[in-house]
Amino acid sequence: MSDIIQLLPEAIANQIAAGEVIQRPASVVKELMENSIDAGSTAVTLILKNSGKTLIQIIDNGKGMSETDARMSFERHATSKIKEAKDLFSIKTMGFRGEALASIASIAEVEMKTRPEDEDMATHITIKSSDLIDQTYCQAEPGTSIAVKNLFFNVPARKKFLKTDSVELKYILEEFKRIALAHCDLKFKVIHNDNEVYNLSAGSLKKRVINLFRKTYEDKIVRVDEETDIINISGLVGSPEIARKQKGEQYIFVNKRFIKSHYLNHAIKMAYESLLSDDQHPFYILFLEIDPERIDINVHPTKQEIKFDDERVIYNYLKVSVKHALGRYSLSPKLDFENEDSNLLDRSNLAAQGRKPSAHFSNTRASTTRTAPVMRNWQSLYSGLEEFSLEDDDSGAEQLDLTIPSAATGDLLGAFNPLENEVKAPLQLHNTFVVIQIKSGFLLIHQHYAHQRILYERYLHKLNKREELVQKQLFPISLQIGKDKKDVFADLIPSLNKLGFEIQAFGGDTFVVHGIPAGFQDNNLQEVIDGLIEQFIENKNLSISKNENLARSMAQSAAMKSGKSLTEEEMTQLIDELFACEMPYTNPSGKKCFLTFELKDLEKEFN
Ligand code: ADP
Ligand code: MG
Repeated sequence: MSDIIQLLPEAIANQIAAGEVIQRPASVVKELMENSIDAGSTAVTLILKNSGKTLIQIIDNGKGMSETDARMSFERHATSKIKEAKDLFSIKTMGFRGEALASIASIAEVEMKTRPEDEDMATHITIKSSDLIDQTYCQAEPGTSIAVKNLFFNVPARKKFLKTDSVELKYILEEFKRIALAHCDLKFKVIHNDNEVYNLSAGSLKKRVINLFRKTYEDKIVRVDEETDIINISGLVGSPEIARKQKGEQYIFVNKRFIKSHYLNHAIKMAYESLLSDDQHPFYILFLEIDPERIDINVHPTKQEIKFDDERVIYNYLKVSVKHALGRYSLSPKLDFENEDSNLLDRSNLAAQGRKPSAHFSNTRASTTRTAPVMRNWQSLYSGLEEFSLEDDDSGAEQLDLTIPSAATGDLLGAFNPLENEVKAPLQLHNTFVVIQIKSGFLLIHQHYAHQRILYERYLHKLNKREELVQKQLFPISLQIGKDKKDVFADLIPSLNKLGFEIQAFGGDTFVVHGIPAGFQDNNLQEVIDGLIEQFIENKNLSISKNENLARSMAQSAAMKSGKSLTEEEMTQLIDELFACEMPYTNPSGKKCFLTFELKDLEKEFN
């Protein structure tokens, strides 16, 4: 038999590669803009005609290419970004496969002008279907301009599958947004059919968000900013008010590269807890910075999926960071951005003391000297809170006990810093609310909801942990549980015993309690347990785990009620404990635990 295997002609090989890398005009925009950024540009202009179907041109002021490089750049696997296989594991540039230009040139007509700063003339190259049409010199500013005309002109099947102009433009602008968000320090301009769509100056992320999304987001976004040994997380998250019914305004970047991850989206959604219903999607733009050696970005040809060495650790860090930011927002929505550069987070303080909010946060925190009475009990509150598990997540994550940074609540307490100078005792109103002064105004705390939150978190942590519990032994008390509820209750006994109860079935409707969790009031146990079972049955309609339901029901039933008079001591403890919570601002079912009143706003009311 004669030999039949041949090497594919280069142009066809390029077209096949293009099938993977270039699906639509938006893919060209992405690849070319990434190249401009890799080339160190500070300003990038994108010019489009007919949603990129006729023309996509990118003009940058980056380092340009020499004559030889300009020609080489269109060869497949031609890249200046990796030299050895090991470089693959520490990629810091956006591109590295050396495929984009070759692919684009195989399915379009490409005209490139490029000039390094130290050369007088630019190289001018025209390539069509991988064929060099023309190579000359021309006058041009330093940098590179690449015009891609008539995309897919020689791949009719592809061309046919392009969507309408408005849809293709949407795809392009989406790619553009991702890049513009990740590079706020660069100037960008977008011109479509001679109309300016965006003209973005270099500046803060917040400014960019306002320009790319809505001006009204200005005081509804809050900064996220956490540094740990493994990962840095920064960016902006939206308050629940700007959550939307459609997904979309959600961006996660890993080392400035946009990625898609249902798993990490889930972590963020979890941070909002009951603030959002299932069909509401929060706004966020989050940047994860992690050692490139700890991730694998090359699992997908267009590089939007990513593998982390330890995904579950990242999950928890992310969740806690977002919770932390939301907690700060709830204290004072305006606090965060009054002055972008000022250190409202007390970060300079942390830095000055040479410590980061790290996995040992609770310990380091204990060594600082905060004097405000409002915080005097916090040390004891931290113990036992520094671990939590993923048991209730429906993401399919295995259960995990993991030490995470308790920074979530640390800075929240920092908001009380102003009290260090002038301390006012809390005040109770109508045996229902507690008022506490903060620097910018005052908080009005709902004692019942606040206490529910505190107990809920405490119980949930205990249920998810296997720890010895402090228990108070009782002279046995018997409980009568209604016939219809008896089975539900019997089912709950092992979990209740985990919380510190010691309950036994005694036959019939009778149960005997020998012990209760330390700190639990035993004076109306029958009432509390009845309330607990009722709540538990009611909450079964919610899609929450059994542990979460139990923690919720216990909290709802056992929390101090409105109408209970509190001593100053008790009020202070309530405030301390509330703000040591991971999510202090609502009770487990989403009701606000406190309201914030700003002096500025109050002044206005009197005008
Ligand atoms: P990759 O980005 O994966 O290296 P590309 O095909 O996108 O592959 O680009 C090939 C090479 O061409 C790059 O490695 C870079 O050296 C050069 N290049 C492409 N675009 C530009 C640009 N705008 N400015 C300077 N150099 C560029
Ligand atoms: Mg590239």
